[in-house]
Amino acid sequence: MVLHVKGRVLVGPEEVRDELWAVDGRITYERPRSAEAVVVEGWALPGLVDAHCHVGLDQHGAVDAPTSEKQAVTDRDAGTLLIRDAGSAADTRWIDDRDDLPKIIRAGRHIARTRRYIRNYAHEIEPGDLVAYVAREARRGDGWVKLVGDWIDREAGDLTACWPRGEVEAAIAEAHRLGARVTAHCFAEDSLRDLVEAGIDCIEHATGLTEDTIPLFAERGVAIVPTLVNIATFPRLAAGGEAKFPRWSAHMRALHARRYDTVRSAYDAGIPVFVGTDAGGSLAHGLVAAEVEELVKAGIPPLEALSATTWGARAWLGRPALQEGAPADLVVYDSDPRADVRVLAGPRRVILNGRVIG
Ligand SMILES: [Zn+2]
Repeated sequence: MVLHVKGRVLVGPEEVRDELWAVDGRITYERPRSAEAVVVEGWALPGLVDAHCHVGLDQHGAVDAPTSEKQAVTDRDAGTLLIRDAGSAADTRWIDDRDDLPKIIRAGRHIARTRRYIRNYAHEIEPGDLVAYVAREARRGDGWVKLVGDWIDREAGDLTACWPRGEVEAAIAEAHRLGARVTAHCFAEDSLRDLVEAGIDCIEHATGLTEDTIPLFAERGVAIVPTLVNIATFPRLAAGGEAKFPRWSAHMRALHARRYDTVRSAYDAGIPVFVGTDAGGSLAHGLVAAEVEELVKAGIPPLEALSATTWGARAWLGRPALQEGAPADLVVYDSDPRADVRVLAGPRRVILNGRVIG
């Protein structure tokens, strides 16, 4: 089966071609001999990347395969064809055998401190076991390990860091030795310096970045995935916890209030910023376009925000975009998404492994 995509093919932020073909599921720029082809016309982008998504989770923990499938289909139909799964309690390995579902790069299961995360999500452990659990998840995942770096400490009544510096340093070194990168969920300020100095590769949410830690991230090239569509829920969470944890509540509100400034300052300093929705848990799947819009709202130039879910994100994750020979995973739109990123909200056609899926 040959697929012919015509119109404008956005091979890179500055590189535009008139057409490409998909032959046996792979991209080629050489016109195939076969005259018969399915034709799709429009503006083509590489399949979008959601770099923080959870397939196989709902608010109570792991879900069954049909529910996981529905989540993956919702992401796919929104144009997300590559997911970095930022922690799941479910085994979703079967999805790898389905050529009609997004490709997934897994971080194994979250690793959290005992009673310091959402129930049923994580391995909940103490620091003495951190290295062993990181090694285990590094072997189970697809090149990433996910830590919960800070969470509410009910005794302190506020967010506090979860791991001592020494243990986290040893754990990150072990992950790197096993060829895996490490990322951590961090809302607040105080876990960031230790994690970055310990060699972490990425921070999720990163709402606690300040002028003290931004230069450190920039210098070491530590990426952030702000998940602004999730941060939008902070005021509601803060209201819910106000009576019992007023300090935590005020902290969450403050992090929320400065979220756009934080992302903009990080971007301006040269910190790599990527698109992630945090779908799963409590947030709906399929919000990738909304997150790109949020990044633009924060002040990231539209072309850079696009790259954060396409060319740039794929390079960061070590996956091809629209290169010759790459899997033909692309999304086709009615108009130029570089001119207005809101175009992403309505894909005309979704193509996976050279097949028109939606
Ligand atoms: Zn998450």
